[in-house]
Amino acid sequence: MKAYIHINEILTLKKAHLKDGRKLNPEDLSIITDGAIVFDDKMILWVGHTGEMPEQYKSLPFMSLKDHVLTPEIVDSHTHLVFGGDRAKEYADRLNGIPYEEIAKRGGGILLTMKETQNAGNEALFELARERIQRLYSYGIGTIEIKSGYGLNFEKEKEISLVIARLKKHFSPQIQIFNTYLAAHDVPKEFSSSADYVKQVVLPLLKELAPLNIIDAVDIFHEKNYFTAEDTRELFQLALDLGIPRKIHADELNTNGGAEIAASFSALSADHLLKISDDGIAKLAHSATVATLLPGTAFFLGKILAPSRKMLDAGVKVAIASDYNPGSCHCDNLLLIASISAAQLKINQAELWCAITYNASHSLGKMDQGVLVPGMKARFSLFKAESISHITYNWGRNFSVSLP
Ligand SMILES: [Zn+2]
Repeated sequence: MKAYIHINEILTLKKAHLKDGRKLNPEDLSIITDGAIVFDDKMILWVGHTGEMPEQYKSLPFMSLKDHVLTPEIVDSHTHLVFGGDRAKEYADRLNGIPYEEIAKRGGGILLTMKETQNAGNEALFELARERIQRLYSYGIGTIEIKSGYGLNFEKEKEISLVIARLKKHFSPQIQIFNTYLAAHDVPKEFSSSADYVKQVVLPLLKELAPLNIIDAVDIFHEKNYFTAEDTRELFQLALDLGIPRKIHADELNTNGGAEIAASFSALSADHLLKISDDGIAKLAHSATVATLLPGTAFFLGKILAPSRKMLDAGVKVAIASDYNPGSCHCDNLLLIASISAAQLKINQAELWCAITYNASHSLGKMDQGVLVPGMKARFSLFKAESISHITYNWGRNFSVSLP
């Protein structure tokens, strides 16, 4: 058991928790100034003003954290960080006016990442991902979702899922990794249709991996010219039968009913949603499915952002994640993305912090973290800053410090 005392601000999100992370006002941040927190290895035991600490905890070993801010742990709930190579050349080509079709014809785009990932040995993939995870952690991000999906054949997809499982073991318990199965990321050329690929690779590999208990959720790129509603339903039904949670890439390129399917299968989250329909918004608002926005990707590709205000006002539970990947968002700093996008997404401060902590945790099925109240997991992020406002006001600056 130990205690931190005299913390400038503790962001508890207590009221946001009572409202299930929906329809939040600025006061739902529930900030305690000159705060103290008592916790053990497992959970938070007490939170309040330093001057009001109960007698029983006063003899504990404590650490004074003046000039610091403590928040629920920052969660990056959508990344693709196991990949080989990079796409810097393609980035430069794009800036210089070469169209994506031409880049793809020259062997660039996702096909290049597939090739470089397939060529990289598992040891190299593990090492590259390990370094990337360390960097995320240095920003204060302690729970990280990682998707497979650049192998795109039976053997390599299996290997990538196993690499993520190894990363999870390697970093536990300091960093929590969430292993998402995204074999249905794109349809490889050698298959006649998406249905063919789903039948030959996506479903059988999931059946093979399920008994190993390493897959935390399945995911699918549910978009026109990628995977159909039929494919998605088939994958989700199998996941449901196997007791594995569901996630989806939906309504990014076209309005295609992805949010609606997610809600009907009680998915943990529906992600992207730039083109979500009004019906999709209504369905999410009445479900536990979290809408995960990925504004970094929209910025990088010069696209419009998701209709965030409409979703929030309807009562949708909204998270923000990085979508860190080599092609459409090569940015690993979620706090930077959230800081820049807050004004564009027209979200208030409670919605902003809830989106990268509480709601992001829920989008990974982790209901016992994301809020600093007794009984919740003792997972937090610490920043050397005067207030939580200073953290996102100085966008791009890293205030994170290690927990003592
Ligand atoms: Zn993605």
